Amino acid sequence: MLKLKLHWQIVIAFIVAILIGLFVPQQVDYVRWLGDIFLRALKLIIVPLILTSIISGVTNLGGGQNLGRLGLKAISYYVLTSFFAIIAGLVLVNIIKPGIGADLGLKMDVPELAAISGGIGDIGMRIIPTNIFSALVEADMLAIIFFSILFGYFITKVEGKYSTFMIDLFNSGFEVMMKLTSFIIKFAPLGILGIVAGVVADQAADKSKLLSMVQHLGMYMLTVLSGLAFHAMITLPLILKFLAKSDPFLHFKAMSLPLITAFSTSSSSATLPLTMDAVENNSGVPNKISSFVLPLGATVNMDGTALYECVAAMFIAQAYGIELTFIQQMIVVVTALLASIGAAGIPMAGLVMISVVLTAVGLPLEGVGLILAVDRILDMCRTTVNVWSDSCGAVTIAKTEGETLKV
Ligand code: ASP
Repeated sequence: MLKLKLHWQIVIAFIVAILIGLFVPQQVDYVRWLGDIFLRALKLIIVPLILTSIISGVTNLGGGQNLGRLGLKAISYYVLTSFFAIIAGLVLVNIIKPGIGADLGLKMDVPELAAISGGIGDIGMRIIPTNIFSALVEADMLAIIFFSILFGYFITKVEGKYSTFMIDLFNSGFEVMMKLTSFIIKFAPLGILGIVAGVVADQAADKSKLLSMVQHLGMYMLTVLSGLAFHAMITLPLILKFLAKSDPFLHFKAMSLPLITAFSTSSSSATLPLTMDAVENNSGVPNKISSFVLPLGATVNMDGTALYECVAAMFIAQAYGIELTFIQQMIVVVTALLASIGAAGIPMAGLVMISVVLTAVGLPLEGVGLILAVDRILDMCRTTVNVWSDSCGAVTIAKTEGETLKV
């Protein structure tokens, strides 16, 4: 039997999905369920995967010193790359000025915004769960990561016979989760077919809304997209080339499945199983590093989102005719970074977090209504950049730890 390589299957699925979404949008429900099942399957494995991967990763790192060094490297990478991304966005939005002169019918309601309460200080508190089981049930990623790191660390502190047992237990659990992941990956083409056809059909139905705003929103999209492209195709490859001494093209090829999945699902968390699989098996990052760095990155490191937060807030300010001072723009930079750290790896999380940035510089929250119409496509693109940056981070950190990789 002719066996097409997975990435060709995905390319075909993608094209068929777009055709279905564009030409027979009424029939899209015949394939949409495939996407729903695929997403459910990915979500199904996230919590056990993160739990076992971090605990086994941390125990395999050995003592606290390695953990501390790796943690420090990871956090430095996350903050630095997000900062570069934001600056790229800030420069572009000041050059292109997409919002100046926009008259976009400014009254729109965004119900999700009401859900955001407290803001950044809260996020810091929420890292410490009061009940790990409810954190697991609610898939509260930061809390689960925090608990897993602690748990893994203290496994290395208990008496030999206990630690051997626990290490074996979590390593075994992790192996099983990775096998399950590989199984689900086989269905990626069908899942992507369902998801993409659905998204294209929904967007096509919204066309009239888009058209009325096309000019300024078009410029706004262009600003975000060129910033994302710059970051993904220049900044991160340069880091790979010079800091990690790796081949960016090879690594990009290795990452094709997770990147397409990130684009289709708009969710770094849902893509995480595939990211881990590709970074380990295709790029050759050792499990003890990727299993610590990637789950953390999927929740904390969002370069694309950070850039988007900055551009969107500046666009809203421009559209309202509000001139932001240098200091205010710096506040936008810092809060955009924090908002990207706080955003969950799920669709539209970045849009909701914009309220944090807008509040910090005193911009009207209804401004979010302006950018709602085009958020889905930008979400797809920024999520892809988020996942790409996570994977580049894993490679960079592994290389600086002296590991030999395939890229
Ligand atoms: N959807 C993005 C992600 O999962 C987050 C965002 O909305 O910016 O990475």
